[in-house]
Amino acid sequence: METKFIVDNNVGKLAKWLRIMGYDTIFFNAENDSKMIATALAEGRVILTRDTQIMKRRVVTSGQLKAILIKSDEPEQQTRQVIATLNLDCRYKPFTICLECNEPLLERTQQQVKDLVPPYVFQTQNQYVECPACHRIYWRGTHWQAMTRKLEKLIKG
Ligand SMILES: [Zn+2]
Repeated sequence: METKFIVDNNVGKLAKWLRIMGYDTIFFNAENDSKMIATALAEGRVILTRDTQIMKRRVVTSGQLKAILIKSDEPEQQTRQVIATLNLDCRYKPFTICLECNEPLLERTQQQVKDLVPPYVFQTQNQYVECPACHRIYWRGTHWQAMTRKLEKLIKG
């Protein structure tokens, strides 16, 4: 089964790294734990939290719902903890999820994005994807490559 996450608002950068790898990751409002737990159960999501109270809930201690208590304040340490705990594949499905909206990205041809990307990008890149929600266009440029490299370095420690 696909690994999906629901995370605290205070681990936002961790969520971004999970989305970079291609893992479906949504946020919850910390003021409403019960709603978050209901969503996690309904959608089969692993909870990533810095809140020790959530870890004490019976639904978590009984093993019915998987939750990981994030130890570090530091996003890179947090990412490393999650990858190590769940043995995640950092090359899972890169470049498939909008980093802002968590929507699955749709492939676009060079012609389709002609007027939507800067001219130098249009001339040098030929693989594009678009977010159906925010309409942000992504391309496999240097930024993405740099993020993937940083991620791999992170995992190797
Ligand atoms: Zn988006």
